[in-house]
Amino acid sequence: AAAQSRYVAINPFSKKQHERAIESLPGGNTRTLLHTSPFPLCMKHGKATFVWDEDGHKYTDFVGELSAGLYGHSHPVIRTAVLATFDEIGLSLGSTTTYEARYASLLCQRFKLERVRMANTGTEANLHALAAARHYTGKRKVVVFNGAYHGACFSFGGGEAAPNTADKGDFVVVQRYGDEEAAAEARGVIEETAKEGDLAAVLVEGMQGAGGCLPGSTEFLSAVQEAARKAGAVFILDEVMTSRLAPNGLGQELGLSPDLVTLGKYLGGGFGFGAFGGRKEIMDSVYDPRVKGSLAHSGTFNNNTMTMCAGYAGLNQVFTEEVCVQFRKVGDDFREKLNGVAKGTRLRFTGKGSLIGLHFREDGTLESQERVDLRDLFWFEMLEDGFWITRRGFIAMMLDTPKEELDRFVDAVSRFLERHDGIM
Ligand code: PLP
Repeated sequence: AAAQSRYVAINPFSKKQHERAIESLPGGNTRTLLHTSPFPLCMKHGKATFVWDEDGHKYTDFVGELSAGLYGHSHPVIRTAVLATFDEIGLSLGSTTTYEARYASLLCQRFKLERVRMANTGTEANLHALAAARHYTGKRKVVVFNGAYHGACFSFGGGEAAPNTADKGDFVVVQRYGDEEAAAEARGVIEETAKEGDLAAVLVEGMQGAGGCLPGSTEFLSAVQEAARKAGAVFILDEVMTSRLAPNGLGQELGLSPDLVTLGKYLGGGFGFGAFGGRKEIMDSVYDPRVKGSLAHSGTFNNNTMTMCAGYAGLNQVFTEEVCVQFRKVGDDFREKLNGVAKGTRLRFTGKGSLIGLHFREDGTLESQERVDLRDLFWFEMLEDGFWITRRGFIAMMLDTPKEELDRFVDAVSRFLERHDGIM
């Protein structure tokens, strides 16, 4: 309560702005995740790896736009690409362009896809991948996992707002995710659903991102892939969040060979983006208009030049395979340091590389009850120390965050745990 009172006292603009906003926006904004009680902070601008709120406070940006902000704010390479697109090309030409094909080729090469198609968000990428799987198999049902988040209309438990799942009846949810027991349950569910004769796809994340940065084991993911194959279902790996974790995506690192992969987030260079692709046999047979009975896939902004050029510049010039490998290590080291200072407390840091979940749990194990009160206290107090993280405890690191800021955060966490020793 004391931390919340201080928050209210030092953020009068954000408070007033929220009161204004709810007169036209239910909840005060259009992203449920961003609603934080008693009111969300209203940011004013960002530069490199920092953001400033409307009340004048400066923060190290650990929200990283939920992983879409990999490059930071106004990265010089992205800025150059954006200005050149605006000045010399135009935003949307109502036609195919070389920029579209150029980016498609880079995405295919980088993420080992035989074919790819563009969309505007990760949600759309998954919608289209499911449509492709359904068209290809002529079936409808999709096996997914509890705690999964595949986009705005595809959340399956685990979230804090009510699940908002499209076509609820078409999804069969495996209750566990990630380990050996989950693999056994998944095998059973996949076999059983296939037996009923209507299984189109199995959709899974290599690490549950919104579910708390919980990696699936290689054995689990391979077992799910194998069961999907055996059942004749399309195996779709959602790499919207995880493609940044390894040079060719997390799936390649784990030795998986998904039929389809979905992409998004930072790959738009900071603009809305989604893409889906994979095996030629599926993609061509479903989408090539020269193939009889092919499926339409439209979208006014699918190949807009701004995203095609900004995304390409980022992946081609900034987040190269070498940089990706180094960045993975920076993230892993950071998480290790955080877990070092949290040892013996209720706090745990999970994840892989630059994607980190923080968890306050009753007895310090992930299986025990979540302590939302401690997580909230942490959020308020980290703001006071100048760190912008998501209220639910997700950190998506930016590429160029100075090492001093990472160290300063480890220090702030350590001081937080000492300060509240009695309840940690
Ligand atoms: N899939 C995963 C794994 C995600 O984490 C997200 C977004 O957080 C999405 C899909 C949806 O992407 P978007 O928000 O661009 O629709």
